[in-house]
Amino acid sequence: MLKITDLHATVGETEILRGLTLEVNAGEVHAIMGPNGAGKSTLAYVLGGRPGYEVTSGSVEFMGQDLLAMDPHERAAAGLFLGFQYPVEIPGVSNVQFLREALNAQRSARGEALLSGGDFLKLAKEKAALLKLDMDMLKRNVNVGFSGGEKKRNEMVQMGILDPALAVLDETDSGLDIDALRVVGEGINAIMRQREGGPGKGVLLITHYQRLLDYVQPDFVHVLSKGRIVKSGGADLALELEREGYEAVAA
Ligand code: ADP
Ligand code: MG
Ligand code: MG
Repeated sequence: MLKITDLHATVGETEILRGLTLEVNAGEVHAIMGPNGAGKSTLAYVLGGRPGYEVTSGSVEFMGQDLLAMDPHERAAAGLFLGFQYPVEIPGVSNVQFLREALNAQRSARGEALLSGGDFLKLAKEKAALLKLDMDMLKRNVNVGFSGGEKKRNEMVQMGILDPALAVLDETDSGLDIDALRVVGEGINAIMRQREGGPGKGVLLITHYQRLLDYVQPDFVHVLSKGRIVKSGGADLALELEREGYEAVAA
């Protein structure tokens, strides 16, 4: 599904990603862990195609296509979802409007029929129920006045509605309380892991701390240090990192 090969990327003059190689197959949850400044967020931005993050060499294949040749909206239409630590607030636009626009833009790019208001509401209700989000929240302006936990729950509903093939969730460091962590865990387990009949999905879970992994059991854990993956293992590796620190494990 996602094949990153020897990726090098710079921000400004500085090389941040320095030969990163990683493969995510459908149905797998990969956790990327690492110290502050390792390049975790940079990886997420590069995958999303954020301006200012320049790939200097290497390749990224996504769903059989050259991801790096695609515009950000083409990446989204191809099934890439990015979740960030600080979701944006959009005053004057309700969640329902925003999500229907976003979904229909993706469907249109894929040549699929657009969803009517009624059909969209049905879908939104189903996904909101899955995540125990009150429909009233979906009628409010995007993230305006939401608590940290509510923003995360909202983001998980977005993910449910857009139904991506691969979710890249940058949950690093501070700002996530226990409730928000649980919400993200539930979202991944309810949305990305439900795969009866559907194709398997992939998750790239970027996190500084082990605690998110109490809620989501990763299939693989990778340590990112100085722009490349220096160690990979199973879920145990996260516990080892927590116990012994990045220095000891990734040296
Ligand atoms: P992480 O998410 O692992 O904490 P980041 O990807 O945010 O790490 O940052 C990696 C390195 O890139 C850091 O040294 C950071 O200072 C630098 N960096 C990130 N974004 C920028 C930017 N916009 N301009 C300059 N340096 C940046
Ligand atoms: Mg950081
Ligand atoms: Mg970061």
